[in-house]
Amino acid sequence: MEDLFVKEEIEELRKQIAHHNELYYKKTQPEISDYEFDQLIKHFQYLEEKYPQYKIEESPTEKVGSDLAERAKIIPHKVRMYSLENAYSLEEVKSFLNKIAEKVGCFPKVSLEHKIDGFGINIFYDRGILQYATTRGDGFEGEVVTENVKTIKSISHQIKYKNPVEVRGEIFLPLKEFERINIEREKNEEKLFANPRNAAAGTIKIKDSTIVAGRNLNSIIYSVGFLENDLVQTQVQLLKFLKDNDFRVNEFTEFVSSFKDIEKYCNLWDKNRSELEVDIDGIVIKIDDFSLQKELGFTAKSPKWSIAYKFKAEEKETQLIDVKFQVGRTGAVTPVAKLKPVFISGSTVSNATLHNEDEIKRLDLKLGDFVTIIKSGEIIPKIIKVNHEKRPVDAQDIKFPTTCPVCDTVLKKEEDGAITYCNNINCPAQVQRRIQHFASREAVDIEGLGEVAVKQLLENDMISRIEDIYHIEFDKFQTLDRQGTKSAENLKAAIENSKTQKFHKLLFGLGIRFVGSRTSKILTNHFFDIEEMKNASYEDFLEIEEIGEKIAQSVYDFFRNEESLQTIQKLKEAGLNFYSEKIEKVNLLDGQKFLITGTLENYSRNEIKEEIEKYGGNIISAVSKNLDYLIVGPNPGSKVKKAQKIGTVKIISEEEFLEMIGK
Ligand code: AMP
Ligand code: ZN
Repeated sequence: MEDLFVKEEIEELRKQIAHHNELYYKKTQPEISDYEFDQLIKHFQYLEEKYPQYKIEESPTEKVGSDLAERAKIIPHKVRMYSLENAYSLEEVKSFLNKIAEKVGCFPKVSLEHKIDGFGINIFYDRGILQYATTRGDGFEGEVVTENVKTIKSISHQIKYKNPVEVRGEIFLPLKEFERINIEREKNEEKLFANPRNAAAGTIKIKDSTIVAGRNLNSIIYSVGFLENDLVQTQVQLLKFLKDNDFRVNEFTEFVSSFKDIEKYCNLWDKNRSELEVDIDGIVIKIDDFSLQKELGFTAKSPKWSIAYKFKAEEKETQLIDVKFQVGRTGAVTPVAKLKPVFISGSTVSNATLHNEDEIKRLDLKLGDFVTIIKSGEIIPKIIKVNHEKRPVDAQDIKFPTTCPVCDTVLKKEEDGAITYCNNINCPAQVQRRIQHFASREAVDIEGLGEVAVKQLLENDMISRIEDIYHIEFDKFQTLDRQGTKSAENLKAAIENSKTQKFHKLLFGLGIRFVGSRTSKILTNHFFDIEEMKNASYEDFLEIEEIGEKIAQSVYDFFRNEESLQTIQKLKEAGLNFYSEKIEKVNLLDGQKFLITGTLENYSRNEIKEEIEKYGGNIISAVSKNLDYLIVGPNPGSKVKKAQKIGTVKIISEEEFLEMIGK
């Protein structure tokens, strides 16, 4: 593009953005959708980054950046946020580290950090200014909570470090604050928070940040996502870097190089944790040396260079009063234990899951039995054992129903599994849960369409299937109990907005058995249009890495079901997009093989690999006759010569590569 045009385009975009911002914020009457606005900003930022000479002094991107953040609500992490592998005994920790020791020849130096039971956060700074803060979300992208995070005093709005960096840590509510807030809530007859963790998680998502400011959240920062800085090569250096930039780091962190010291630290804090200002539920052990971290890598879920030693969960004894049977959206019938309420790990518990019929048998459980329950973190309380000696003489057998407790259909046990199903696709319990699932945050995210509203709509015959959501009569809706014009308007807008959701969220929302959020992403990365999925054979699904027989069969069957096909058709007619945007782009590289030498300007090695794969190409490990393209950056190695010798390898610059993928 000619430079002159670029300059004009940037100026034009700047005007447009200002105009739309004004409409959005001041007049609250936007003319374009959030998605379109998002695209506008993305394009603008891209141009500004590419042509920094046209950036104006009082940089609007900073403002724009945070506007984007607040409006888009979701931002992808630059570097994925992983979870941690748990160890429930020190033995496990030992064998985890011994394996690493064997590999490297000596016991590795590790950091020992408190595992704070708060709320994980990702904060992005650029040019020394806090740009946005996001939740961990699904690890790939998180919800924007910038304004609320800015109210936290221990988090600086400006830092010394000027290059882009994602800092990560934990937001928490100090125990004292938690108690103070609950006392206040009790006075105001508001619902109490179950525990400090929930209170922190709830607070961070409140829309009105003045309320958040009044709650005195605090933070401890312990890691980074994106950071390109040669001075930070170990966890020791990282903590120093964070401290130098005025973040609050944990004063109790220690560095040791023997298992004995780890054991000592873990036991010490297990014993003394109640003296801390904040709940901790374990100790996080991390390999100090980043190059070793890199070498060890990641599993699908967590780093292989870190492990969380979890303190033993509290156990309590209580009595089983009753068992209720719940029908889920797939028709699975789950027994739920009703317990005499007990206070455990910071909250009162009166329900526990029993999974299935076999679990009841395994435990040898009867009504009236005394049971031991545990609760750890977010996991629903679980019955771990029955005190058979205390069994009351009149203890009754638990009868698993033979027909659905909601629609009376005869229940069937799955051939190989332990789960019992109600196979009536129109079972009201299933319909309700299916619709709720479709509207849930992980799916198409329709705020205001939770359990209460869905039940109401079903009871008033206003909907009976997922697709009916798009034909709700709002005139009628606003006359329902507890609803009104405001809630009708909000729901309408939320439903409208759901039409722009991404393909993988839609697919997940359809509630195909065994297709969770992650599987849905895998599927939509493979098929870019639902039509392709419809036409795919069982074997086609099976061929996809990470898709096993059970999932393949389930997805295949789903597309053979008339009802499902009808739902998809109707949703399409309502304007939902069952395809990915990648559609035209993705095969641009069409299986061609790439290799890189030298340093690239726009990508790290990992990023270019991802980019190439995203567009359908592959990276291979060495120059050979199979190589199609060698991308050459400054300071290339011997690969160039080798490639020239072969003669068929195309040697290209980074610029030329970008052109290939249309950037
Ligand atoms: P989990 O959610 O059980 O997989 O545990 C992983 C989470 O622990 C991370 O996402 C963090 O939010 C949290 N966490 C708390 N303290 C630390 C710490 N010192 N280092 C790493 N993660 C921590
Ligand atoms: Zn039923």
